[in-house]
Amino acid sequence: MGLHSGAPVHMKILPGAPGSGIVFRRVDLDGFEIPAIGRNVARVSYATSLMKKGVLISTTEHLLSALVGTGIDNAVIELDNLEVPILDGSALPFVEAIRKAGIRKQRRARTYMRICRELELREKDKFIAVYPSDTYSVSYTINFPHPMIGKETFRVDLSDGNYLREIASARTFGSREDERAMRDMGLIRGASLENCVVLSKNGIENPPVRFPDEFVRHKVLDLIGDLALAGKQILGSVVADRAGHAMHTALVSRLLRDNTLWEETTLDEESRPTPAAMETAASQTV
Ligand SMILES: [Zn+2]
Repeated sequence: MGLHSGAPVHMKILPGAPGSGIVFRRVDLDGFEIPAIGRNVARVSYATSLMKKGVLISTTEHLLSALVGTGIDNAVIELDNLEVPILDGSALPFVEAIRKAGIRKQRRARTYMRICRELELREKDKFIAVYPSDTYSVSYTINFPHPMIGKETFRVDLSDGNYLREIASARTFGSREDERAMRDMGLIRGASLENCVVLSKNGIENPPVRFPDEFVRHKVLDLIGDLALAGKQILGSVVADRAGHAMHTALVSRLLRDNTLWEETTLDEESRPTPAAMETAASQTV
């Protein structure tokens, strides 16, 4: 079920050709395809959506995050409705399904977007930036006025298998107080106690949390998913403070518009970051 639409949906992840990137395909609309790339970003408020010629793919961030976290560069995502399923509200079900299906290494060398110059965006008290680095890391700070959250910062380097352990299972969250207003905006029609952490006035309606700081970890998960719209794995250090989907995707747009900020590069095998899923799979077969 889609989180915002409440629409039932079936999704299938298929192999993609080398260099084809992540492409969504609406099987209910004659197989209409929308590449997961910044120029197709549509509405961005509580979720990231893609649109091309009036065709929508909604709430792409958790799935795209799982694909980055498992090191998938090329895939076709078939959907028979307009929204990616929310499942348990995290990226874990996607990661588990991908690992079960298996990952094939392709011959063509992966191209990275290596950040050469810093880029900082500010909007009132919101901030997002990316700085040059040899690996891909994300640092996120939130400041949420709730007794269970408050100010939290989480930093993760994605090059050494941390995604699966630290990020993938962090679930989306929302507060009972905001529910009415969001439903009035036509949002969260598919939300339930099974697919998000629900904050009551002073606590959590559906404990336990998966991490004490699950909230900020989920923001990291969202950010990774939104930055996937750059279309390449990033080599850079991303810092965000109270940003949201709109700022995440604004950073992507700026990067795509200004190619003096980055260079396309390949890495030799030894210095290549190991995606979480492969590392775990390898240790399991041993
Ligand atoms: Zn999310």
